[in-house]
Amino acid sequence: MKYKNFIANKWVDALSGQYVKVIDPSTGQPYAEIARSSAADIDAAVQAAQGASVGAWGKMAPAARSRLLLRLSQALLDQQETLAQIESRDTGKPIKQARSDAAAVARYFEFYAGAVDKLHGTTIPYPHDYTVLTVREPHGVTGHIIPWNYPLQIFGRSVGAALATGNACVVKPAEDACLSILKVAEIAVEVGLPEGTLNICTGLGSEAGAALSAHPGIAHISFTGSPQTGKQVAQAAADHFAPVTLELGGKSPQIVFSDADIDAAVPVLLNAIIQNAGQTCSAGSRLLVQRAIYTDLMGRLAEQFKATRTGAAADDPDCGPLINARQLERVKAFLQEADEAGISVVAQGQLDINAPKGGYYQPPVLLGDVPPSHRLAQEEIFGPVLAAIPFDTEEEALSIANSTPFGLVAGVWTQDGARQLRFARKVRSGQVFINNYGAGGGVELPFGGTGQSGYGREKGFEALYGFTVLKTIAIKH
Ligand code: NAP
Ligand code: MG
Repeated sequence: MKYKNFIANKWVDALSGQYVKVIDPSTGQPYAEIARSSAADIDAAVQAAQGASVGAWGKMAPAARSRLLLRLSQALLDQQETLAQIESRDTGKPIKQARSDAAAVARYFEFYAGAVDKLHGTTIPYPHDYTVLTVREPHGVTGHIIPWNYPLQIFGRSVGAALATGNACVVKPAEDACLSILKVAEIAVEVGLPEGTLNICTGLGSEAGAALSAHPGIAHISFTGSPQTGKQVAQAAADHFAPVTLELGGKSPQIVFSDADIDAAVPVLLNAIIQNAGQTCSAGSRLLVQRAIYTDLMGRLAEQFKATRTGAAADDPDCGPLINARQLERVKAFLQEADEAGISVVAQGQLDINAPKGGYYQPPVLLGDVPPSHRLAQEEIFGPVLAAIPFDTEEEALSIANSTPFGLVAGVWTQDGARQLRFARKVRSGQVFINNYGAGGGVELPFGGTGQSGYGREKGFEALYGFTVLKTIAIKH
């Protein structure tokens, strides 16, 4: 099967005529091909989006835009199983997780559809012979660079908010997983999205992604991925003064105090690192445990890790394969380093005997007593590897929690109300969860980082501000 680019509601070959192979991470085997876009394809997509931005899409009344996005949301929900099957095979995520991602993309469009006609400006008190007001206007054409870990969800959160605010979009999904996003485009045409409103160019980051970042017609870019690539995207965008939203992952800590409800914490701690095989920007990849309960908690967690089953996505294991051979090598290299540093493997999950030989499997690993300054406790591994670190005092926990260059998500487990708030205020993080983690992914909750985790906010009502430009109009009468 060969997949083409989606420009101005038509499926078109990349101008190069070239394709890139699509690999199934569960087997390591190619099963499809996607168009290999270059700067010329991106340019065609930007032109189509510019047409929509001043044309049918840009002129559409907010209520009509809202209804259209709501229709898209319903159509996505109707196709949930199809989208989930595509996503699961393409990314290697267990089918149950893919189903929830497919439900989430529909929910993003539902949430933002509801916000379209509720985002308004203000009037500002000023001397009596003036009337001053603010209006929120779309940027025009927005660029969206999507990673392979949650294609549907990250597409929904960024394109949903961008379309709701009246922008037209050019999307560059990751070469490793873009098929679900192409399916969404097909559904968008069926519900009547005007030509040029949504455009998708597949291919390589160094070609299509770089061309998108550098295109002067792109007025805003949202990027999710690694800090290295994020920096390049922001530098390219700076050449034409386009603002950028960067969501760059993290090394998110879960801090468990000795008064915590351990029974409630254990399954959440496990899930936060094995979900999507640890390839989650907000993975809870550092576990800080107060020393009085360290042995007990690690013992219970070890049982859970050992009981996990890693296998092919379609078999709905606890942990699927990693995305590609490079990612598997990267994770294995981190584990090799742990071994050389004498860091102990407290527990490891099992590989399903039926897991296909060529798949990129790494069963979950629990590492104990990791020195807080070691690379394993500082860098984003992006695999199912949890680094546990004991601590004595609240002060020490805070200092370790804030010791990485990241700040995306933190989980705090304690019954002490004053400590909950004290810690939440002091921990460097875009989101803090008390006695839970991730709050079910909530579309409503503003999300984003600080430091090397990036800047700008996606999700929630907050995202709508980032996708608009505020204009102040002062009238003297
Ligand atoms: P990446 O390079 O940051 O890729 C993210 C997105 O950027 C993909 O769509 C990619 O396209 C695109 N891209 C790559 N080079 C580009 C360039 N020069 N200009 C514009 N866009 C470009 O990440 P990766 O190589 O896939 O993974 C490496 C590491 O990044 C992972 O191990 C993980 O630590 C981190 N990561 C984090 C997240 C997150 O959610 N925070 C997601 C993915 C990866 P192609 O994939 O087609 O090249
Ligand atoms: Mg793939």
